[in-house]
Amino acid sequence: MPLLEIKDLHVALDDGAEIVKGIDLTVESGEVHAIMGPNGSGKSTLAHALMGHPAYTITSGEVLLDGSSLLKLAPDERAQKGLFLAFQYPYAIPGVTVTSFLRSAMNALRKARTGGEDDPIPIPEFRKELAAATEKLKVPRELLGRYLNDGFSGGEKKRIEILQLALLRPRLAVLDETDSGLDIDALKTIAGGVSDLVGPEMSAIVITHYQRILNYIRPDFVHVFAGGRFVAEGGPELAEQLESEGYDAYLPEASNGAR
Ligand code: ADP
Ligand code: MG
Repeated sequence: MPLLEIKDLHVALDDGAEIVKGIDLTVESGEVHAIMGPNGSGKSTLAHALMGHPAYTITSGEVLLDGSSLLKLAPDERAQKGLFLAFQYPYAIPGVTVTSFLRSAMNALRKARTGGEDDPIPIPEFRKELAAATEKLKVPRELLGRYLNDGFSGGEKKRIEILQLALLRPRLAVLDETDSGLDIDALKTIAGGVSDLVGPEMSAIVITHYQRILNYIRPDFVHVFAGGRFVAEGGPELAEQLESEGYDAYLPEASNGAR
């Protein structure tokens, strides 16, 4: 059974505008899928809808994780089932430090996994895991004591998203333009960290505008997303082709020639 199955998914905004217009996607465990497309094509809308963001309404279609539907589940329940979204624009939570946020998130997942019993991670174990992950992802330790994303640079926010990913160990990680805001060294570190986590225990959907991050997280499949649909699908070579040729051929205005 596939890890994730998306069937003919349609997503609309509150005002009724349809942004995602029928997507099919199957992700097996251990696979990396890249979703590439021009700005405004609906990539983040798709990611938010998968996670259950209330601003995005699934008007038809189905999303199955391990064969059971996610659609009636709240975002925290989806997270408990192993779904994780690294936001393109991470939220700030003034008043909550990065460290306490991470510990709360880990404890919430542990509680769900024990069927609702509190099972907080022992502090020494938490410190050890946090220290290992911050070192690996080269997260400045100074960030850990600050309020979550409050005044963080774009790159710092992206590092914290991936730090969460490393600690929460989801089964399916959706990375929404994690590469934007990262300089080349940071990209190498962060993408390399994600790549190390990919395997039988974690699959990934890497949403990106550029091919660059895919040098470090090698995709098994590349899907070109334009105008709310997949307009082309292939292997890693498709990403390289997009890098040299751009998206013009796939824009809706050019659709008669491109498909
Ligand atoms: P991408 O991530 O591919 O750049 P988005 O999914 O962010 O595209 O946006 C697709 C379209 O939906 C854009 O026209 C955007 O303005 C619109 N949109 C997305 N989210 C919202 C929202 N919460 N409110 C209003 N419009 C939105
Ligand atoms: Mg986006």
